[in-house]
Formats: sequence, C-alpha cells, structure tokens
Amino acid sequence: MFHEARIKLTAWYLIIIMGVSLSFSGVMYFGVNRELERIGNSQKTRIQGLIRGYPVSIDVPIGPDFDAIAQARLTFLTTLALINLTIFIVSGLGGYFLAGQTLEPIAKMMKEQKEFVSNASHELRTPLTSLMTEIEVALRDKEITLNDTKNLLVSNLEEVKKMNNLSNYLLSLNKLQDGKLLTKTTPVDLKPVVENVVKKLEALALKKKIHIKTNLKNSIIKGNQAALEELVTILLDNAIKYSNSGGKILITTTSKKVLKVADEGIGIPRADLPHIFDRFYRAEYSRNKEKTDGYGLGLSIAKSIIDIHKASVRVKSEVGKGTTFTVTF
Ligand code: ADP
Repeated sequence: MFHEARIKLTAWYLIIIMGVSLSFSGVMYFGVNRELERIGNSQKTRIQGLIRGYPVSIDVPIGPDFDAIAQARLTFLTTLALINLTIFIVSGLGGYFLAGQTLEPIAKMMKEQKEFVSNASHELRTPLTSLMTEIEVALRDKEITLNDTKNLLVSNLEEVKKMNNLSNYLLSLNKLQDGKLLTKTTPVDLKPVVENVVKKLEALALKKKIHIKTNLKNSIIKGNQAALEELVTILLDNAIKYSNSGGKILITTTSKKVLKVADEGIGIPRADLPHIFDRFYRAEYSRNKEKTDGYGLGLSIAKSIIDIHKASVRVKSEVGKGTTFTVTF
C-alpha cells in the first residue's frame, strides 16, 4: 500500500510540474516563433525592396535565409523538448524521493496504530475468554450451588475489572495523544498531588506490608492537576506492584521541581530498560508472574504526561535492589 501511494503521489507531483513546464514552454515557443516570423517578414520586404531597385533582374538568394529561420525554429523546439525531458526525469526521481519522505511518517503512524489495535484486542481477548469459559462451564453444571455461583461472580467481577482498567488506560492514552490536556494548565503544587495519591494507594501498600515514606517540599509547576495525579499514581502503583512484601518506598518532591519515586523492589533488567516506556511492553518477569497484573501501558501513559509537561525522566535500576524514577519538570 505504501508503494502504491508513493507512486500515486509521484504521479501527482509530475502532473503538476510538467503542467507548469509545458505551459511555460508553449508560451515561450509561440513568443519565439512570432519573433522569428516577424524577422523573416521584414527580411523578405527588405530583399524585395532591393530587387525592385535594381535596373536589371538578378537572382537573389532568398532561400537560405528562410531555411535559417526554419532551422532556428527546429533547434529551439528540440532544446525545449530536451529541457522538458530533463525536467520530467529529474522531477520524477525527485518526486519519488520526496513522496517517500512525505509518506514515511504516515506509514509509521499507521503501523503503530495497527500494532496498537492488535495489542489492545489481544489484551481484551484474555479476560473475555476466561469470562466466557467460566460462564459456559457453570451453565453446564447442573448441580451448581449458591456458593459456587457467588464464587463465579467474584471471579467474573475480577475479569470485568481488568477490562475496565484496560479501557481506562486506552482512553487515557487517546486523550493524551489528542493533546487536549495542554489547554488546561494551571500552577500545580506537586506536594498535595503526591499526598493525595499516597492516601489513595496506602491501603494497597498496606496489604503487601509496604511502607511508603515521603519527603515533600512545595514544588509549583505549570501543568495539569489530573494528569500529574495520574503520573504519580502510575509510578507509585508500579513501585508497590514490583516491591516485595515488607519493602520500603520513598517519594520525594524538591523545590527544584523534581519528583522522585524510589523503591527497593525487584528492579528492572538492563535489557528491558530501553523499552519500559513502549506501549504494551512488559518485562519477562512481569508477564510470568500471576500476581503482577498489568498491560504494559502505565509507563507509556506516564511518558506522554511527562512529554506534554516538557519534563524529562531518568530511571535508575538494579535487579534485586530497586528502582528509582526521577522526573524533572
Ligand atoms: P505494567 O502494567 O506491566 O506495570 P508499565 O508500563 O507500568 O506496565 O511498566 C512496564 C514494565 O516496566 C513493567 O511490566 C515492569 O516490567 C517494568 N517496571 C515498571 N516499573 C517498575 C518498578 N518500579 N520496578 C520494577 N519493574 C518496573
């Protein structure tokens, strides 16, 4: 499809360039032709005048002059044809190159879009299949008890929650890509933002006996409150998710507009580090472990939020020792 579109675009470039070039050549040809005819006519008149002035009739060689005009016309026409042929070849090659350059980002975007849709459908299929299987098995069971039914509903609810999370992630990504958040920026203090998120996720950390420590200074930045809350939630949620029971997490904000989330968890292997912000990317260990739920979308959303705030992120991690995310606004 890319090749077909490239050829079509090249053809359009060629049609436009050749249209201009041929019209210009036509105008030039008619102009020069008229001038040549005018010169020819005045030559003819002059020679006829000379002939009339002679006492005896002589043979005046008028032929070669008119041959010269015809020759000039032909030379001009050939030159124009050569120029147009050169323009055709050069603009054909140049157009093909430019069409490639123009279409490449579009082709890349389409490829990413396709991958995104296929990843999203794949992630949706897993909870959907398990939901369907559980319901079908339960429907076939003629001796199902009330207790079994309740357990089934609990399990179904888990799957529905997963799908709900995924659709929320996808909506977030979509919203961030539209750049709509950029229009709603206000001065935001990172300190209360972090405090709110800690309050929200404290229960989750407690469940794993993880202690969240904070060292927060007021840090005012220009940004979007909701997006910044989402960013801190993603980083803290990951810190909890990838920490072992009894671990510690430290969140810091400094007056120099720096946000740091440090955990003492399992760490990220060096080979995975360059990819963790990619959509749907999950390090091998995260995919294998049942308990670390996720879709590999959190950090790509975090990165979009960091980007729209024109901030930067640094990750320091050591397997078995922990990970630190540092965002500098
Ligand atoms: P997920 O839903 O899998 O957590 P994310 O996009 O949030 O997706 O993270 C991508 C991957 O980066 C995770 O699967 C995990 O392998 C790794 N990761 C992110 N944060 C941490 C962390 N604090 N400690 C260890 N690994 C992490």
